[in-house]
Amino acid sequence: MNNKEEKTILMPKSTTGFYVVGTPIGNLEDITYRAVRILNEVDLILCEDTRVTRNLLDRYEIHKPTMSYHSQSKLAKVDKILEMIEEGKTLALVSDAGTPTISDPGSVLVSKIRESFSDIEVIAIPGPSALVSALSVSGLPASEFTFYGFLPHKKGRETLFKEIAEINRTAVFYESPHRILKALESLNTFTHDRRVVIAREISKIYEQVVSGKPEEILKYFSENPDKVRGEFVVMVSEK
Ligand code: SAM
Repeated sequence: MNNKEEKTILMPKSTTGFYVVGTPIGNLEDITYRAVRILNEVDLILCEDTRVTRNLLDRYEIHKPTMSYHSQSKLAKVDKILEMIEEGKTLALVSDAGTPTISDPGSVLVSKIRESFSDIEVIAIPGPSALVSALSVSGLPASEFTFYGFLPHKKGRETLFKEIAEINRTAVFYESPHRILKALESLNTFTHDRRVVIAREISKIYEQVVSGKPEEILKYFSENPDKVRGEFVVMVSEK
């Protein structure tokens, strides 16, 4: 395929297709001009939680209908969405924050759309993701990394910490405030000599990056329970 053909496919002139749109992970200013334009042009916006997305849409005065699509959505919902696409409707998919499908719903839907329509382009509207933002300020090597999403709560959790201890590249995972101390205890057990970087509340008021040995970080968060709040990305240096 030559460059010109590639450009025609990736940048269609009219708003047809299915758009997967990255949205802010905190600061509502972190949205692209293109994302705002596309959200203004589509017929319907599929949202993880319509109330969360309404905040963003109101901020940019985007008056478009929304419909929920989330991890609990039934296959009937997918069929309904496929029908709308069949009818020629143009849809956008957003999640509550960041890039849809990255530890968020959407990949089943995107896969179904790809299977069902050869003539519908699924178009990425690039935007923020906590994963990439966290790595970019971590100071850890980020040309290669392993992303674990959310670790399982129980079964298989310890195995993954053992795996992180063995891999030769930066490891990244998402963690909730309820389990961050437990995660740090496990990192202290399995990877006590490694550097851990925690990026918390990126782009929000209490944004913070903490870096050190697992023991130091565990001590810091244990002594500062007011910081055990919000959203966390955990990064572990390579072996
Ligand atoms: N799709 C999103 C993305 O592209 O980043 C991730 C969605 S996942 C359900 C939510 C998790 O991402 C949070 O529990 C947290 O680990 C991480 N996260 C999201 N926003 C964040 C932020 N502003 N600061 C730090 N971590 C964040």
